[in-house]
Amino acid sequence: MPFRLLAAFLALGVLAGCASTAAADSRPAVVTAFYPLEFLSRRLGGDRIAVTNLTKPGAEPHDVELNPRQVGLISDAALVVYLHGFQPAVDEAVEQEASDRAFDVGTTVELLPIAAEDDHDHVPGQDEHAEAAGGRDPHVWLDPVRFAAITDALGERLAATDPAHAADYRARAVAVHRELDTLNAEYAAGLRDCARREIVTSHEAFHYLADRYHLTEIGITGVSPEAEPAPRRLAEVAREARAAGTTTIFFETLVSPKVADTIAREVGARTAVLDPLEGLTEPGTDYFSVMRSNLAALTQALGCTT
Ligand SMILES: [Zn+2]
Repeated sequence: MPFRLLAAFLALGVLAGCASTAAADSRPAVVTAFYPLEFLSRRLGGDRIAVTNLTKPGAEPHDVELNPRQVGLISDAALVVYLHGFQPAVDEAVEQEASDRAFDVGTTVELLPIAAEDDHDHVPGQDEHAEAAGGRDPHVWLDPVRFAAITDALGERLAATDPAHAADYRARAVAVHRELDTLNAEYAAGLRDCARREIVTSHEAFHYLADRYHLTEIGITGVSPEAEPAPRRLAEVAREARAAGTTTIFFETLVSPKVADTIAREVGARTAVLDPLEGLTEPGTDYFSVMRSNLAALTQALGCTT
């Protein structure tokens, strides 16, 4: 080998050995499907992993479309964290590109069926994610107890993916699990003694939360936020809301509040935000801060004694 070329190789070797970016690039690439899974992966992975989220901040994840670059990220990932049945485009890409490196968080907890009361105004094609999930409700992250179980399982999966740092992932999973236990205790205490237990929500994302804390959700549009409610359903919801003495109709940040406004006017109630955490909409917020804002909105709307 000519000397100059050898010197160049040696220089390259030295550079690669010294450059800190080389170490950063060698971290396991973890691709997450939507915000709560991104949040959890970042908390459990810390700076040991490189996380990329497939749903843009502020975008509604139910019908996310993937571009070729994102499909490439999935096929190159060390781990893809997703919820089978929630986002058809992600399911398809995972199946084709990463079925051996994918972690379906829905396999780690019991998923609730979509409530039967949705069936009467169910329009085929509008609840595709629900169909794909075999009629299971995807909004599992809104139950802190189930999310804690997912935390444990994801910690173990990261440990298996990157055994050199297994102890780090497990320790962080224990810490996040404890935070979720605290959140659960706050919810249980905050919603224990309330004047009302019915929550009227624009999109039916809160079954898990309602189930955990003994509330009844009256959903306007069903589990898929884009579905247009039939006039008959609107009249029905208004009737149920009046019967329950509802003072607040909840809407969410990623979907137009038009329908909630209509019902609130009809019932003489106010509207307030209850965030299903499908994406972050406010800078400086995270899973825990939004869950606590939701709890404050619920205790106020339901007349709970604190
Ligand atoms: Zn949803």
